[in-house]
Amino acid sequence: MAGEPQADCLFCKIVAGEVPATVVHETDTVVAFQDINPQAPCHVLVIPKAHYRDAVTLATEAPALAADVLREAGAVAAGGKVDETGYRVVFNTGVGAGQTVFHAHAHVLGGRGLAWPPG
Ligand code: 5GP
Ligand code: ZN
Repeated sequence: MAGEPQADCLFCKIVAGEVPATVVHETDTVVAFQDINPQAPCHVLVIPKAHYRDAVTLATEAPALAADVLREAGAVAAGGKVDETGYRVVFNTGVGAGQTVFHAHAHVLGGRGLAWPPG
């Protein structure tokens, strides 16, 4: 069924507490934790607790939950004070775009200058 935990999914394991993570923010539907390989002073991943393979699938199948992820990305930025200088919310979608974990997640990046266009 849509949204069900997947046994082979790293981020489902983080949601279940089976893999440790440094959680910085949590709601009933969303959890946010430090990226293990940070690309900026602030690099937090915001994920729905339910499993969807990517952000567009999430928005299509569970739009209210997609809105939760985006809103809480803003809360993470505010909590990390990176909203004052600007931050980036990134949804890598598909292997060619660098998606390596197929559980929808927003990268919240900030705390340094962010070039545009990205590489
Ligand atoms: P993607 O490449 O799929 O857009 O993003 C996956 C992110 O998950 C990467 O930035 C990677 O550093 C992060 N990541 C991979 N494994 C772990 C882990 O075990 N713990 C945490 N906290 N982050 C991870
Ligand atoms: Zn998952």
